[in-house]
Amino acid sequence: MIVITGISSLVTNDASLERGKLGIINNAALVVGDDNKIAWTGEEINLPSEFVGTAINVDGRAVIPGFVDSHTHLVFGGDRSGEFEARMSGKPYSAGGIRTTMAATRSASDESLAINAHRLAKEALNTGTTTLEVKSGYGLSVNDEARSLKVAGQVTTETTFLGAHVVPPESAIDEYVDLVCGEMLKQCAPNAKWIDVFCDHGAFDVDHARAILSAGAQAGLGLRIHANQLQHGDGVQLGVELGAASCDHCTHLNGKDISALADTNGRTVATLLPTAELCTRSKFPDARRLIDAGVSVALASDCNPGSSYTTSMPLVISLAVLNMNMTCDEAVWSATAGGAAALRRSDIGNLAAGSHADFAVLNSRSHIHLAYRPGVKLVDAVFARGQLAAGSLR
Ligand SMILES: [Zn+2]
Repeated sequence: MIVITGISSLVTNDASLERGKLGIINNAALVVGDDNKIAWTGEEINLPSEFVGTAINVDGRAVIPGFVDSHTHLVFGGDRSGEFEARMSGKPYSAGGIRTTMAATRSASDESLAINAHRLAKEALNTGTTTLEVKSGYGLSVNDEARSLKVAGQVTTETTFLGAHVVPPESAIDEYVDLVCGEMLKQCAPNAKWIDVFCDHGAFDVDHARAILSAGAQAGLGLRIHANQLQHGDGVQLGVELGAASCDHCTHLNGKDISALADTNGRTVATLLPTAELCTRSKFPDARRLIDAGVSVALASDCNPGSSYTTSMPLVISLAVLNMNMTCDEAVWSATAGGAAALRRSDIGNLAAGSHADFAVLNSRSHIHLAYRPGVKLVDAVFARGQLAAGSLR
């Protein structure tokens, strides 16, 4: 059992407390049970007597749920710093750069792919991320996608088959879609929980995306879609129609797309990835429009070597507030409970009794500093499944 006291502000995301969406408790304490789940939260003054005297005092710091980063591409070889420099010198981003990483991934050993994925997962943990979704999508052959998913499974249980990232250069699109829906899906499904498609200009059109997601659903996988990132299209409509857990990017939406998402009542989440816009110097989506319409919004890093090479959820939060018209409370909710909703999980992304004891201790008195102090190291310590997993409380 672990008892944490001296919490200036505890974000629980527990709506049943009737303390706003974040369920904030001031002057709080938190108890982790022997099952590594949250056993008790409340005002420290009400801490039950059996817990008194065994506590770790965090001395007036804020505690928030660990971040749930529901969209990453951590399994890849090489990097694309050269392409980044070219783009920053005036060349526009297109989906084709994925093929550069495909070549580096195919030539990398399983071991080097795993070392890189573990390195990035640790980097994410150090900034407060306790759950990651990880996609394949840089192998683009049956064998390379299957081994990418095995590597993904070493860092998370939230694994996603993204064979339909782009068409590899050796294939024609129709033949490749057949492969993804057939043998590739068959080899990948045992190590995947989700299937995803990059439905956009330069990748897959809506008919191909429908075929791929339908095949994935038949194989028992949950659905996700990269939609409406580079231009307006029917990807979001397709995601809603097929009951996807999340439509990701959502940079170019019209009113119809927004009402379709809102009408799902949170069943299909819009996952916004502001570091992708930041790193490609693109226009940010307007989260305000989505939230005001009643859409459930998640925030994620899209960590990948081409268009968003960061694992920092604090950076994502500050961009969402400063560039996407979210409030600080909304951004913190979307990076925690919102990410959990995008993975259809209620046992993470919140600190209600019974949820996993995944939380971050900040070096500030309030979660507002996550947006207010962009680029600053704000996470002192991270507990994952009840254990101190990164940083320290000294
Ligand atoms: Zn992505």
